[in-house]
Amino acid sequence: MTAPRVEVECACCGGTGLHQGRALCHACYQWHHENGTLHKYPQLHTWLETLARIADFAELRGRGLSVRRASAALGVTARSGQRYEQRLKARQAVTS
Ligand SMILES: [Zn+2]
Repeated sequence: MTAPRVEVECACCGGTGLHQGRALCHACYQWHHENGTLHKYPQLHTWLETLARIADFAELRGRGLSVRRASAALGVTARSGQRYEQRLKARQAVTS
């Protein structure tokens, strides 16, 4: 199972596509990567992807998967999964 991806409006071609990084679609990211022009597009940093992953992580945990299994399903390390878990718990503490 691959990590879930977010759709973006590409910063280069303006089309909608699966986000590869730096607000670029997969094709544009590859093109800029191969042509050495990726630096023109600043890193979004991965907070958006991380938020999407944490949402998926929460859903998997809600289905009864362990932290380790939910992490594996999302393609992240168990350590990342534990960090997601801590963030979810911190969020619950705030809202309850
Ligand atoms: Zn594009």
